[in-house]
Amino acid sequence: MKKSLNKKYIKYVVFAFIVAILFVSVLFFCLKGKDSDKTILSIYNMKLVYDENNHILSGQEEINYANNSENCFEKLYFHLYPNAFREGAVAKVVAQQNYENAFPNGESFGFIEIKSVCDSLGESFKFCIEGKDENILAVDLKEKLFPDENVVIKIDFEVKLANINHRLGYGENTINLGNFYPIMCVYEDGKGFSKDLYHSNGDPFYSDCAKYDVEISFNSKFDIASTGDLVSSEKDGNVTKNIYSALNVRDFCVVLSEKFEKVTKKVGKINVNYFGFKSDENLEKCLAVSCDAVETFNDFFGDYPYKELSIVKSNFVHGGMEFPGVVLISDKIEDPRDLNYVIVHEIAHQWWYGLVGNDEYNHAWIDEGLTEYSTLLFFEKHTKYGENFKEMINNSLKNYILFEEVYKKVTGKVDGTMDRPLDKFETEPEYSQCVYTRGALMFNSFRELIGKNKFLKAMKTMQKEYRYKNISPAQLIEVFEKYGGRETESFFNNWLFDKVIFTKG
Ligand SMILES: [Zn+2]
Repeated sequence: MKKSLNKKYIKYVVFAFIVAILFVSVLFFCLKGKDSDKTILSIYNMKLVYDENNHILSGQEEINYANNSENCFEKLYFHLYPNAFREGAVAKVVAQQNYENAFPNGESFGFIEIKSVCDSLGESFKFCIEGKDENILAVDLKEKLFPDENVVIKIDFEVKLANINHRLGYGENTINLGNFYPIMCVYEDGKGFSKDLYHSNGDPFYSDCAKYDVEISFNSKFDIASTGDLVSSEKDGNVTKNIYSALNVRDFCVVLSEKFEKVTKKVGKINVNYFGFKSDENLEKCLAVSCDAVETFNDFFGDYPYKELSIVKSNFVHGGMEFPGVVLISDKIEDPRDLNYVIVHEIAHQWWYGLVGNDEYNHAWIDEGLTEYSTLLFFEKHTKYGENFKEMINNSLKNYILFEEVYKKVTGKVDGTMDRPLDKFETEPEYSQCVYTRGALMFNSFRELIGKNKFLKAMKTMQKEYRYKNISPAQLIEVFEKYGGRETESFFNNWLFDKVIFTKG
């Protein structure tokens, strides 16, 4: 009995052993499969010093670039957006009609100088500056970078700021540090590296999400608004050194000012910060609409995942501008309704551009159209702000029809194609009518087709499937197709490629 029991026991042990091996193997292959789907984040490590007397930002940047593509690279490319501010730049930094607002003290120039490009051991890489406006840094790698491999590149640079009310520049009230550092060009399988030139229309940017660790030193007389979470803050004499960390963001922005007055309110776990100026009487109102926007979009599209969101009043030539965790709101906006509108629009960009990104140069209608329509959805829900959703849609339609009529009269033709690169829009009004107005009308028309519930579900699905990624037009249509059926593709193509006939309602 004992023996037979032992025999049985051994059989069980062998059986259990085989099952265990099978289980571990299956688990191993599952995890491996999952891992190969997973994007490895690149890491930007920056040390920045701002010299406010000379308007110079010195930077040491270390990029740990992860090759998530299926190709080998011999060269890597970075955008040098500050060179858009150079004297003699081919691409104008703002459209002619905005020069006066952009340069209140006369035309001014800025640039980025690349001091050195080295590997992790401090040995130089060969590099050159290319592009029509010296807008691309090309780095020759010492050895091929294979898929799933990383390479460390250290870049020392210096940015001279122009005196301009723009994303990058110093103005009367704020110093705006947006698009200031060499940032990796996005690689798309089949297309290569995206190296589009700056353009005054729209936001000519395109980037991948990454991890950012940033140290910035600046005169303590300034207050600071920044992307990311504050890790530490030290004061030494009149210099403040702050360290920030941000995970899964596609850009990094800093704003400095001596005039800031900050108010904060929590929405769930998020600190919503409104940075106005000391003399402002509307701080609490601006904070309230900001909080309403965060709460509403959390509900509509899925939670904002970061701890901080800063809405920052600043010198800015246009209405506002979005960066991850930071939005700029022009200090020129006086009308309270306009101010509400711009705040809500820029906050909506945290979902459309920030979390779900896209190639803003070639498909600006994706983030601007979705954002503009999200803004209308916000005012549809919150009637207390005095806007009327139906009226807003009707006004958009009227404006768009008027644009087509006037354009036809003046130029003899009109092109309502939405899906085209920024440099293919002849004027700023053409760009804004096709991308914003027509964009919002398109999404509203689709929502009327499938109903509001399904429309919001589609928006949520897009956030779930493409959060921290970039979405292409085809992928966006594919998501909507799940809710709109087979007609969806032709619906979008008609709108995107100017095959819709508008009639006055
Ligand atoms: Zn926008």
